[in-house]
Amino acid sequence: MRAAIFVGQDQPPSIEDVIAVEPGPGDVVVRVGASGVCHSDLSVLNGTLPVPPPMVLGHEGAGTVEWVGSEVTRVRLGDRVIASLTPVCGSCWHCIRGETHLCEAGSAFGRVTRVHRHDGSTAPALSGLGTFVDVMTTSEFALVPVRTDLPDEQLALIGCGVTTGVGAALNTAKVFPGATVAVIGCGGVGTAVIQGARIAGAARIVAIDPVAAKREAALGFGATDAVDPADDPVEQVKALTDGRGVDFAFEVVGAETLMQQAMGMTRRGGTTVLVGVPRFDAALAVPVFPLILADRTIKGSYYGSAQALRDFPRFIALIESGRLDLGSMVSQRLPLDRLEDAFETMRTGDAIRSVISATS
Ligand SMILES: [Zn+2]
Ligand SMILES: [Zn+2]
Repeated sequence: MRAAIFVGQDQPPSIEDVIAVEPGPGDVVVRVGASGVCHSDLSVLNGTLPVPPPMVLGHEGAGTVEWVGSEVTRVRLGDRVIASLTPVCGSCWHCIRGETHLCEAGSAFGRVTRVHRHDGSTAPALSGLGTFVDVMTTSEFALVPVRTDLPDEQLALIGCGVTTGVGAALNTAKVFPGATVAVIGCGGVGTAVIQGARIAGAARIVAIDPVAAKREAALGFGATDAVDPADDPVEQVKALTDGRGVDFAFEVVGAETLMQQAMGMTRRGGTTVLVGVPRFDAALAVPVFPLILADRTIKGSYYGSAQALRDFPRFIALIESGRLDLGSMVSQRLPLDRLEDAFETMRTGDAIRSVISATS
């Protein structure tokens, strides 16, 4: 079978024939139907997220169960499944406190060898998943079985970007009806934040992105205003909110200057939510005097504070009822051997989401 392997910083992914490692009793083999191309994959390729090569890329996938180990209870043969970015072991300190997005099984999970390469080396898989393959072997803890007729390409997006964005609005920030919201960065995750805020009933949603096409698309996903950051975005957001700033400002890019902007456009008593993944060594200088005197909150949001077993079916219900639009988020479909084209599209900022599809 084929896999897309990270072989070194600033090198294109190697699409090669590999042999899957024999699955264990707690493992599941999934025929991957579709896999979204997420910015974190690009961050591995360009060194922003430091991981040692070789590694199977891809962490946003959906497909159908082809084989289950003898100890597997969560999924059955033939089930449609979505891969969860973080596993849910169900029994660690965090899982039993309703914080499955912080499951302690995650780090060990990412080190398990998953494929043999032709040069004799072996490779683990990104986030313990590695969805840029024909057939993925992973732990049952990383899979959420779902009952739906939605296409795999939409289910795949739930595995990372949609859950990260919609979850940031609904779970982390708890956006309320009538709230004012600003979203800096309107790619896949930013678009999902906008939709989450709309679903929560936000009255004003300001989309901020330098790419005109993304601002235009954001209005279609529920933004009420679009702002070009070429002119001071903090002042523009304040002008739209009676000079106060918004209840919730989301930074979805992972850049320190934009995080500062997000704080600057958050109202007194409001909340700044940091969603974008920055460089691993990024730091933020926060003037604490105005933070305290204005009673502001700064929150990190990992994986939309999502409880995958609860939230994936919830998001599917929102899609099926027409309130969450993932169909319009898929900008292009490509076969696995054109993965590099998807990264190129991402570098130029043209797509909301590219999907590697088994049928394209
Ligand atoms: Zn991702
Ligand atoms: Zn756990």
